[in-house]
Amino acid sequence: MMAVGRCTLDMIAGVAPNRLLVRRASSVPCFVAAILLGHLAATTELVPPDAMEKKMSGLASPTSPILAPVVEAPGRCRLCERRCEADRTAAARGFCKASSQARVFRHRVEWGEELELVPSHLFYLSGCNLRCVFCIAEDNSVDAARGRLLTPKFFAEAVRWGQSQGARYVEWVGGEPTIHLPAILEVMASCEDLPPIVWKSNFYFVPDVFDWLAGAVDIYVADFKFGNDQCASSLAGATRYTSIVTRNLLLASDRANLIVRHLLLPGHWDCCFLPIVSWLRENLPKTKFSIWDGYLPCWRARNYEPLATPLPPDAGGRARCIAREHGLNVIQ
Ligand code: SF4
Repeated sequence: MMAVGRCTLDMIAGVAPNRLLVRRASSVPCFVAAILLGHLAATTELVPPDAMEKKMSGLASPTSPILAPVVEAPGRCRLCERRCEADRTAAARGFCKASSQARVFRHRVEWGEELELVPSHLFYLSGCNLRCVFCIAEDNSVDAARGRLLTPKFFAEAVRWGQSQGARYVEWVGGEPTIHLPAILEVMASCEDLPPIVWKSNFYFVPDVFDWLAGAVDIYVADFKFGNDQCASSLAGATRYTSIVTRNLLLASDRANLIVRHLLLPGHWDCCFLPIVSWLRENLPKTKFSIWDGYLPCWRARNYEPLATPLPPDAGGRARCIAREHGLNVIQ
């Protein structure tokens, strides 16, 4: 974590000559302020006063990680709504099992994303804060120790390669990238020729994440997976899912370009698809809505009827038709 602290301090001092810094030059103080405010707000809510004093003095130290509230010194991770408070900089692990180091289990240039994102260079990070039984990443999303270490050198070389292949964006995916936010910020800050950034996420994170990523992300792609808490709980192990994700969708729509993506699940038309359409109609009718119909019964899905079967062949067309009838901005 010290490396994250140094890196971020460099950004503040204007040392790192990279796109992230250049683009964000005027907003860097806001970025730091947001972190500090986020830290104080979170501290007020969750940490006793003596611990608060210690953390505030830690932040004032020039050698302390400025991103302490992200994976707080001495730990206490509250990056996502699991709020495990695990000291990931030491041996402790939270629900996601991730340490403070991020690992890439695959990176490649892809043409399968939404048309406006094609082609993108996707970096797949292992580890996730959800446990979707139909996860296409399968064990890579459970085992945060898989893949090669995400280092500034590796990232810079990979980005150059992606650009040579025509990639227009770097897209962070998982697993779930948000659980690795400090490591990602570090490598992006040290990359000299950074393309626009796409953040593809399950949106099951704390709202402060938007402050920590402000100016560093160009487009959010939000996986809105479930239309009710019961399905989210039984299929992904997530509590308070709909209130958390819808809160974050509203926050994202205020701050950056947003694409809401929904993967149609067999047998989850009435409980998931239609409530999502209904919520979007009420709240974000103009937001780009991307409907995916390529569901495959991966990982543990075969144990969860009706997820064991593929989608009916006309599901995608029907879904798009209904979403358009409800006035939604369907892009795919
Ligand atoms: S990112 Fe991991 S350790 Fe941190 S709160 Fe979420 S699940 Fe827990």
